[in-house]
Amino acid sequence: MFRIGIGNDTHRLVAGRPLILGGVSIPYEFGPEGHSDSDALAHAVIDAVLGAMAQGDIGVHFPDGDPKWKDANSFDMLERVIGLARERGFHIVNVDATVMLERPKLRGHIEAMRQNFARTLRVDISCISVKAKTGEGLDAVGRGEAVSAQSIVLLSDENH
Ligand SMILES: [Zn+2]
Repeated sequence: MFRIGIGNDTHRLVAGRPLILGGVSIPYEFGPEGHSDSDALAHAVIDAVLGAMAQGDIGVHFPDGDPKWKDANSFDMLERVIGLARERGFHIVNVDATVMLERPKLRGHIEAMRQNFARTLRVDISCISVKAKTGEGLDAVGRGEAVSAQSIVLLSDENH
């Protein structure tokens, strides 16, 4: 049996925070505000995996008020969610994701992001798609005030 899930995430960009997307540190003067490292792309994938399993969302599993996840590496959170999927007999078929950021250009970082997801999700890199877009100068992303990401994940259930 297949299960599909969708994830969305947005963070405000503020001065003095590291910009981490898809587990890649990207030099920039602004970074996402938030409780963990606020990797919006990783968060969108986490929500998509949880959504495919109908297991709530990232806020349920990693509450903002929990000091354990303060400045946490979002790939440690993703690793934990993948563990939940494996316990239930699911494995990842493929991931498609889009990250929206006005500046800087992400093209040079996409392969490293795909490798990070492939390693953590234990799939071949050919099963991981990461696309980057700008906001074309419109909305909060376009004004450089926010980073957002969307993801769709397909899971396969070994038990059915
Ligand atoms: Zn987030």
